[in-house]
Amino acid sequence: MGRLWIWAAVLVAIMAVLAVMVPKAPDAAKSPAAGGQVTPVAGKLKVSATVFPLADVVKNVGGDQVDVVTIMPVGASPHTFEPTPETIRTVSGVAMIFKIGCGLDDWTEKVTAAMQGSVKVVAVSNNIELRKFADGSADPHYWLSLNNGQIIAITVAQELSKVDEADTEYYMANMTEYVKKLDAADGRIRATLAPVKGKSFATFHEAWFYFAQEYGLEVATAFEPFPGREPTPQYLAEFSDAVKKKNIKWVFSEPQFSSDAISQVAKDLGVKLGVLDPEGGMAGDAKASGYIPMMERNADTILKALSE
Ligand SMILES: [Zn+2]
Repeated sequence: MGRLWIWAAVLVAIMAVLAVMVPKAPDAAKSPAAGGQVTPVAGKLKVSATVFPLADVVKNVGGDQVDVVTIMPVGASPHTFEPTPETIRTVSGVAMIFKIGCGLDDWTEKVTAAMQGSVKVVAVSNNIELRKFADGSADPHYWLSLNNGQIIAITVAQELSKVDEADTEYYMANMTEYVKKLDAADGRIRATLAPVKGKSFATFHEAWFYFAQEYGLEVATAFEPFPGREPTPQYLAEFSDAVKKKNIKWVFSEPQFSSDAISQVAKDLGVKLGVLDPEGGMAGDAKASGYIPMMERNADTILKALSE
């Protein structure tokens, strides 16, 4: 989706919700001193998101009006995560759960099954152009393109407005501001990666195709065909062949998985090992503290590696 499409979608989202809103009398909460900013009117909403990057989008769109509980702890991988009784306790009382879908966070069903009462679950893949893996299943890592991040932000604003209609204007205003930030960051990443356009690298698991497609790079192969499961010797031979044939100089591990096996293979192949983080939020890592910083750091890592 191009930029024009995004801004058309932002406008459509705003107009659709404003059209169904009942006109309100000017209320005291909307102080003119706020300089045109929209002040939230209703009580705080408690919502949840399955993974860190999505939770950060919800925080940016929900602002002061929303408490966001991230279900998966930082450092875990959504491919191997199992909800615990503690997980269930932290999400108790949320109005809705945002998830990525496409098989990434199906464990959300275990969470909702263990919760009291019903909770609305929203997959934010609406309007995203999903790419398919070779086996025909949808690739769930679509948040690793800031263009898609903008579409996610629009969906989140629409969904928050459905459960908290009184704060619709607030959510739409936050979303518009955040889409601008995502758009600016997208532009910076394009500029960052322009010098290494067309270059190839290998990743730990098949998470980076949207990123590569968006920013003009090529993911030659991935080390683990099923994240969390060690590759078979036969697969490892195919991986090594691909690295050699495509003259790959860099492979990237991920902080959510052990790098022992991949670092040994990298050594054997004589290629360098870097780290790309598709999940973000690592403890004590201020530079990766949000979705945008996480994306920019990955872009910086790739630039540094591939321009060598
Ligand atoms: Zn993944």
